[in-house]
Amino acid sequence: KSGFISIIGRPNVGKSTFLNRVIGQKIAIMSDKPQTTRNKVQGVLTLSDAQMIFIDTPGIHKPKHKLGDFMMKVATNTLKEVDLILFMINAVEGLGRGDEFIIEKLKSVKTPVFLVVNKIDQVHPDQLLPLIEKYQHLYPFSSVVPISALEGNNVETLLGQIKQHL
Ligand code: GDP
Ligand code: MG
Repeated sequence: KSGFISIIGRPNVGKSTFLNRVIGQKIAIMSDKPQTTRNKVQGVLTLSDAQMIFIDTPGIHKPKHKLGDFMMKVATNTLKEVDLILFMINAVEGLGRGDEFIIEKLKSVKTPVFLVVNKIDQVHPDQLLPLIEKYQHLYPFSSVVPISALEGNNVETLLGQIKQHL
């Protein structure tokens, strides 16, 4: 099994932290340079029975100028071509305009989307379900996985679910 995966989400939700954890190298950091319109492989995770190729998706946020419009188009095209989208959110900050903007973009692609609720080490478990329900109200996610990219909680579970979707 092998597939392309795109991780999207607002700045600072923990996308690079997650990639660094699963790939075990500092590859993701290197793609945190100024945005380019070219899609890049951020890292490849090779397991005994599956290969996950993570693709960078720059520009999937509210555009500030015309170039932003163009990059948004490129980003949306990338999302159409990958096998799975991981939409990462911050469990602490909750639903904001940035997330709503991304969810609108997701509605124009058919690729399955997982809601990855990161930083669960920073919230009380009782806060999680109401937060998740707010997002599920806006989009029919194929799966919802709460994790802590920093501490590693539930990351293996997420990788298992990704594997099943490839
Ligand atoms: P990105 O902009 O989405 O790539 O976010 P980063 O991976 O750069 O993370 C932004 C900040 O959030 C960093 O200071 C990380 O250490 C922190 N962070 C990432 N994941 C977690 C997590 O699961 N728990 C906590 N407490 N902090 C996290
Ligand atoms: Mg990053």
